[in-house]
Amino acid sequence: MRYLVVADIHSNLEALQTVMCHAEAQGGFESIWCLGDIVGYGADPVPCIDLLRSYPLASVSGNHDLAAIDMLSMDEFNGYAREAVLWTRQQLGLDDREFLAGNPLSRVEDGVTLLHGTPRNPIWDNYLPQFLSKDHVADSFLQFSTPSCLVGHSHIPFMCIEDDAQFIALQPAQRKLLSQARCVVNPGSVGQPRDEDSRAAYALYDAETDTFTHYRVEYDIEATQAKIIAAGLPDILASRLSDGR
Ligand code: ZN
Repeated sequence: MRYLVVADIHSNLEALQTVMCHAEAQGGFESIWCLGDIVGYGADPVPCIDLLRSYPLASVSGNHDLAAIDMLSMDEFNGYAREAVLWTRQQLGLDDREFLAGNPLSRVEDGVTLLHGTPRNPIWDNYLPQFLSKDHVADSFLQFSTPSCLVGHSHIPFMCIEDDAQFIALQPAQRKLLSQARCVVNPGSVGQPRDEDSRAAYALYDAETDTFTHYRVEYDIEATQAKIIAAGLPDILASRLSDGR
């Protein structure tokens, strides 16, 4: 089975469509693993949900998904994130809310753990060295039982191997065997990359060969920005996309 691995789409339809087309050109996929934050920030929450759901899909909840259906307090959100959550709530229909409410905090699919934040706190913790102590990183590997765990939330593509707890940036077209060493891997953000590379990030995982491949792809950022402005969402949510921040 070949999986499209996506995280932090954040209602960016152009990025999601481009990622899917690019993935098709790399041999395609049969199912999608979504690591949370489908909605929030961007102008196309419902089209993004609909597009994902038109494929076989295993998804987990992100903090923005839960806030958008009023299942998580917005106290930890900054002003523009909060504004986007309130706007997103008005767009979602009952079916969209039920779909988001039905996603678990973590799940195991084909021998791989999927979640949004960290294994200890799937909603809020950020799996990055500046946010996690060495003890916390070590502890995180005790919190899941599969060889590998795929996460989102930080919008930064990386892998962290249990043996040395080092964080390694993923490079485009980089391949990794997920079961070779216990690891936590983030495919990067589809809809709002924050590693100063504005290209959409994603991965393909081939379960037969155990091969995880990271990709970056350019998409029509200006079209996405125009929609964000037209929706009356905060300008920074449009401008930051060009900077990859
Ligand atoms: Zn996010």
